[in-house]
Amino acid sequence: MTSLDARIANLFPSIILNLQESIRIPSIQGDPTLDAPFGIQVKEALNHALKTASSLGFKTYDLDGYVGWAEYGESENMIVVLGHLDVVPSGEGWTRPPFGGEIHGNKMFGRGVMDDKGPIIGALWALYAIKELSFPVKRRIRILFGTNEESGMKDMHYYLEHGGEIPIMGFTPDGEFPIVAYEKGQLHVRIKVPFIQPNNSKALLLGICGGTVPNVVPSEAEAQIRFFDLSEKQKILNAFKKVAREKGIKVAVNAESEIATIKVSGVAAHGSTPELGVNAIANLLYLLGYSIDEDWGESLRGLSGYFYGDVNGVNLGIFLEDELSGKLTCNLGQINFEDGCLSLILDIRFPVSFKFEDVILSLESLSQKEGFSLNILRKKAPLNMPKDSILIKKLQKVYEEKTGQEAKLLSMGGGTYAKALPNIVAFGPKFPESPDVAHQADEFIDLEEYLKILQIMGAAMVELAN
Ligand SMILES: [Zn+2]
Repeated sequence: MTSLDARIANLFPSIILNLQESIRIPSIQGDPTLDAPFGIQVKEALNHALKTASSLGFKTYDLDGYVGWAEYGESENMIVVLGHLDVVPSGEGWTRPPFGGEIHGNKMFGRGVMDDKGPIIGALWALYAIKELSFPVKRRIRILFGTNEESGMKDMHYYLEHGGEIPIMGFTPDGEFPIVAYEKGQLHVRIKVPFIQPNNSKALLLGICGGTVPNVVPSEAEAQIRFFDLSEKQKILNAFKKVAREKGIKVAVNAESEIATIKVSGVAAHGSTPELGVNAIANLLYLLGYSIDEDWGESLRGLSGYFYGDVNGVNLGIFLEDELSGKLTCNLGQINFEDGCLSLILDIRFPVSFKFEDVILSLESLSQKEGFSLNILRKKAPLNMPKDSILIKKLQKVYEEKTGQEAKLLSMGGGTYAKALPNIVAFGPKFPESPDVAHQADEFIDLEEYLKILQIMGAAMVELAN
């Protein structure tokens, strides 16, 4: 154990108390007020962290409630540790109070203990240990407290737009160990598909909807169909059952009147890992497409062909793959029916060796061929930190010394702050063998692991600062 490890272990009881205070502030994004751009609870969590920092003897700064920081050292060059104090809502299914910070056994429970209050508040305390031991540092160390990571990273946009200093190196403890060197590029696109139903149809599609946001695999999708012919209705309802049974599609049909409601359920998952979910919209399109004996049924069948059983954009003609970050993924996140068009929103994550154009040009030529209209809603460039960069070399050295494990470079489909601030990568806090508890019910941090995380971060700060 180094002297820094010992000092952090000594401080650990105080760190736990301080983290519990923060967990008890439910810092979910709220309505903006003066000085509190993301709501008063988020602002209170920022105030709490900055108050802690100044009580530990740091210089602190609050950038209009968007971002705050604490600093150690005087040099011109700066390294950062960037984390966030905002949290996602607790959601259902907790067996402990989500904003209690209770400790049971060797675990602390609460929204934000891992994502990301535990790591970033811990980083502040690790820096305090560095300061107390008067470790020499050639570069200033800044702990940056973000407040809008979970809903758009507008905090970092504000920081950069208002002349926030760019670090020469740094990390965000908001991903995984060992090191996330690669993060896929991201595109959100809307495809509008003209949808024509002839007047003499025996059945009409009245509505279709599914999904809530682009970046989640939709767990529910629903359609309403009006029948003009009873025997046709019975035929189609039988076809639903048959197709659903053959394909294992979970469907509930309510057909008491001439209007039938067809509800398909799937399994939600993060949009960056669509292979872990079951897409209710794709299943609904397939079910309708293969049951409805009308022209419009056929066009749904055609549409389902792009998504059913394909989460890698193969059928859309946008599939890409590289060695560093794997396959392109495509999540059909939302569908709506309006103004005679089906509107589909896709969340596409493409591998790091490619550019936006590599995806967009293929989508454009498909749209032209099929008569779709295409809209780009969001673009985020991939992150590709060279494996022989000083940052990667230094973090690898620290991780291997501290854990005795090989510091492999990881790739993620999701995006961290490393895409929002130059020259940083995600480093921790989740160990390879630990469960992913972020955004889940009963989010917890194992306290033995927490201490280890803080000691690794402390060593990494010293390493990057020298
Ligand atoms: Zn996070």
